Amino acid sequence: ARLVLATGNAGKLREMRAILAPWHVDVRPQSEFTAESAEETGLSFVENAILKARFAATVCGLPAIADDSGLEVDALHGAPGIHSARYAGPRADDAANNARLLAELEAVADTGRNARYRCAMVFVRWPLDPAPEVCQASWEGRIARLPRGTGGFGYDPLFLVGDGEATAAELDPVRKNEVSHRGKALRALVAVLTDPGGGS
Ligand code: IMP
Repeated sequence: ARLVLATGNAGKLREMRAILAPWHVDVRPQSEFTAESAEETGLSFVENAILKARFAATVCGLPAIADDSGLEVDALHGAPGIHSARYAGPRADDAANNARLLAELEAVADTGRNARYRCAMVFVRWPLDPAPEVCQASWEGRIARLPRGTGGFGYDPLFLVGDGEATAAELDPVRKNEVSHRGKALRALVAVLTDPGGGS
């Protein structure tokens, strides 16, 4: 079977391909078919993941898996949320986004820096699939005061996990996939899609 992964984000692609590898499907990135991407007009991760999956299925003519994800910070009332990729502006890179996050939280004490990553993972069989499969997961953490680590991508150098002893960027990639929002959501989706009694 062939399917398309509706993401152009290299970090996400790496993580998702590692999780899908044992599944023996021919997984193609959307970038092999088009340089364009879906318009993310939804207000939630799940709405945007569905838009991305439908776009990919339309453009590529294959069943599609799409991820929409982001960071939700309590002290910022859920920001950057669905705007995580462009928090510091339309052309922002990870470093600029991280700098803005640190600036916004400058006056916030350690006890108020709780945050979580969220991920919505969606599968559609066809562009107009009336019944997308949807799995969501989150990963709790806290925003550090200084970036640390070189792994992962995005806000990982600022995302303290567990007791705060390591950032997500200091985790081994296999470990990150075991505990992350994306790892949990994608494994749940694969479980639904490979359940022989599913789809009832
Ligand atoms: P999307 O491509 O519109 O779903 O935006 C996702 C954005 O959320 C990324 O560009 C990152 O800024 C952030 N994000 C999502 N997942 C992660 C993660 O696992 N680590 C770090 N940042 C993440």
